[in-house]
Amino acid sequence: MITRREMLGGAAAVAAGLLTGLTPQDKKLAPTESNIEGPYYRKDAPFRNKLAAGLKGDPLKISGRVLSPDGTPLREALVDVWQADKEGAYDNSSDAFVLRGRIKTDKEGLYTVETVMPGQYDLGEAKRPAHIHYKISAPGHSPLTTQLYFKGDPWLSKDPFVRKSLIIEIADKAGTFDIVLARA
Ligand code: FE
Repeated sequence: MITRREMLGGAAAVAAGLLTGLTPQDKKLAPTESNIEGPYYRKDAPFRNKLAAGLKGDPLKISGRVLSPDGTPLREALVDVWQADKEGAYDNSSDAFVLRGRIKTDKEGLYTVETVMPGQYDLGEAKRPAHIHYKISAPGHSPLTTQLYFKGDPWLSKDPFVRKSLIIEIADKAGTFDIVLARA
């Protein structure tokens, strides 16, 4: 996860580089941690960033940038997301690809997803904490499969797959999830 400060620092470094004509990036961002794919990925989700049209649930907006380790924003990176509905159920068969979508980043490397908060899902005794699955790819970089989690979820500390770096904070129904892809 990139802090706001690092992101702004990166932007400032880029701006400074543009002004001087020098190669700006001397920093090295750690690639985002991978996480299990899980059993419910479906290929060929529609290209869209509004995933929850007509669905009940708490509105949620996630945005962020896809970056190279040197801080360069990756335009037209492919961000493929999927998640459970508020009851913790996935759409594994319908043509509507409910709560699934693919997004291309813009020229600043930005993506935005408008959705609803996913539910936790039952594993018998325990539940998996709420999460959104991601697959991200961009030319010249290693594809990444990961998940994001939400701060404050009571199941975070009991789930063996959670990584601290993948937990984001939600405020005013919105959160930021920046993704750094390793160079291929
Ligand atoms: Fe899942």
